[in-house]
Amino acid sequence: MERIAWLNGDYVPLADAKISAQDRGFLFADGIYEYTAILDGKLVDSAAHLARFERSAAGLELPLPVPPDEIAAIQRELVARNGVREGGVYFQLTGGPAERDFLAPSTAPTLFMFTQAADIIERATARTGIAVKTIPDPRWARCDIKSIMLLGQVLAKREAAAAGAQEAWLVDTAGFVTEGASSSALIVTPDGTLVTRPNSRSILPGCTRKAVLAIAERDGVKVEERLFSVAEARGAREAILTSASNFVLPVVTIDGAPVGDGKPGPIARRLRELYIEVARAE
Ligand code: PLP
Repeated sequence: MERIAWLNGDYVPLADAKISAQDRGFLFADGIYEYTAILDGKLVDSAAHLARFERSAAGLELPLPVPPDEIAAIQRELVARNGVREGGVYFQLTGGPAERDFLAPSTAPTLFMFTQAADIIERATARTGIAVKTIPDPRWARCDIKSIMLLGQVLAKREAAAAGAQEAWLVDTAGFVTEGASSSALIVTPDGTLVTRPNSRSILPGCTRKAVLAIAERDGVKVEERLFSVAEARGAREAILTSASNFVLPVVTIDGAPVGDGKPGPIARRLRELYIEVARAE
């Protein structure tokens, strides 16, 4: 089946979607993006992703060419046209084509969206858990903006993959974990408290993180938003990552050393189940 994307107002075959080589996204990484999960053919937590999309766009002074509710309608149409039951929709906004000039205004922004099919629920890593490798955080000072400037994350993930890990946990200069290269990082302390770094310019405010913290509190888990170090994570009872593409996954090793007993823990498993329930009930 031919995949259909949406580019600047038109539904087009993904293979035929073309942009200018002068696009500011291509020349300057002047752009932002989002990824919303699709479950049972429906968007998951769409409003939160659209709100962050608007916020990131404002951070780069990029005008939204289409209002958020229309973006959601286009996404639902893309999900239908591509017949996606499970996976995600990627959407990206850039400064668009302009003469190469740092200060050129974004008069014709590029808005691009496409869907990807992927198994989220029956993913092997949900059963086995994943390995993470810690790496000094190489990124810029505005990690709260979901910028397409992802080279730091690409290099960190390559280094993690070379060490046999499925995610990199990025570490600030004081030794505290910021977040995963494409996920939020959480731990469960020996006394059962769910701990994650507070939102700031050092991390992306994760939509899944926010939903999972609320679910955990409703389920009677004590939640603390505070810094945690690599050493504390290594001594944790459980470690967890959250993201739109993975929902909730147990982290079973950090730098090759087991977390707890080295198996997916009960809090990770329970939060994953509850998150899936909430996503399905939307
Ligand atoms: N942190 C970073 C750096 C990310 O790239 C992502 C997702 O791509 C997340 C956290 C998780 O955010 P969300 O749960 O909104 O997908």
